[in-house]
Amino acid sequence: MQPTPFCNIACDYCYLAERDVARFMSDDVVRAAIRNARDSGLLGRELNVVWHAGEPLAAPAAFYERAFDIMAEEAGAATAVRHSIQTNAMLIDERWCELFRRRNVHVGVSVDGPAEIHDRHRKTRDGRPTHARVMHGIEQLQRAGIAFDAIAVVTDGSVERADAIVDFCLAAGIPAIGFNVDEQEGVRTNSSLAGADASVAAFFERVFERAAAVPDQLRVRELHEAVGRVAAGLPVVTVAGQPTPANPQVVPFATTTVDCVGRFSCFSPELIDQRHADYGSFDFGDVLHGLMIDALATDRFAAVFDDILAGNEACRNACPYFSVCGGGSPVNKLNERGSFRVAETRYCRQTIQAPIELAMQALEAELPAVRAAIAIG
Ligand code: SF4
Repeated sequence: MQPTPFCNIACDYCYLAERDVARFMSDDVVRAAIRNARDSGLLGRELNVVWHAGEPLAAPAAFYERAFDIMAEEAGAATAVRHSIQTNAMLIDERWCELFRRRNVHVGVSVDGPAEIHDRHRKTRDGRPTHARVMHGIEQLQRAGIAFDAIAVVTDGSVERADAIVDFCLAAGIPAIGFNVDEQEGVRTNSSLAGADASVAAFFERVFERAAAVPDQLRVRELHEAVGRVAAGLPVVTVAGQPTPANPQVVPFATTTVDCVGRFSCFSPELIDQRHADYGSFDFGDVLHGLMIDALATDRFAAVFDDILAGNEACRNACPYFSVCGGGSPVNKLNERGSFRVAETRYCRQTIQAPIELAMQALEAELPAVRAAIAIG
């Protein structure tokens, strides 16, 4: 859910096209989105709602109070609705913390590391640094006992600074972090880490090494996800009649994005505000009119879905990581290679394949001990 495309700061690696547009989601759109999902038969036992794609705290707290009530009411007792907010933390105060606690909101904070790394890219519109205010927001969360995790963007300015970032997390009491490697996406037409696969792999190797030494203090998203995927595999679902490793970015409506005026999209969330010569836009309709599920029968949906499936087949046929990846991220295929119908991207080499290789090495290193334990048992 995009409560607003507006952001109070102006990071230079941002992929959002409308971060200067101060438009806000109405209660009617909130109600229509959840009611439409329910009437389309899309709700299961759990619905995870992520408020993002702009700075969510730029919308008033009262909006969320109403939105959470509306969504619980419309979803009904059979669906547990869980809310997450991804924020730059600069607007967090005691009132927000009280809401997060009372409504059991999961909070994700965008912070790239210590000030000299973070302030290189995460600046106000007039170029001032933001790190001090972010840390103030983090301290408010900690004082209020709100659990949170962090997301850091890795760029050419931080890829050699794994130790500095881990040291920062440990000193600041950040319990969990995920890394988004600088992506070529949306209005961000170049990544600072193009051609830097080896540096990114070395970054993850060092971060994993450091995190493995302090497992009770720092959880690294990529390490946990990769170990889980290698150890247990991805569940398999049927997509277009074909058994496929479950990947919410290729299963229609597994990830559904609703923008602040009610347009909806599927697959990669970042598609919602993009346009492409072959497809036009990627909004498949508007939650205020008609049922979302009826989009499946439209030409635009079919054109996008067919090409995403062709890309998944390319992955299935060519990539040894397919069973633990499920075809990656369509938006990165489109933005990097100009087509959904392809397999490998820089994004998947750097953020899927590299962590999985490291996870396999770690698990293989454990094998002698596991085998010995089994033999003794
Ligand atoms: S790792 Fe890349 S090439 Fe392999 S299945 Fe995933 S997206 Fe496709």
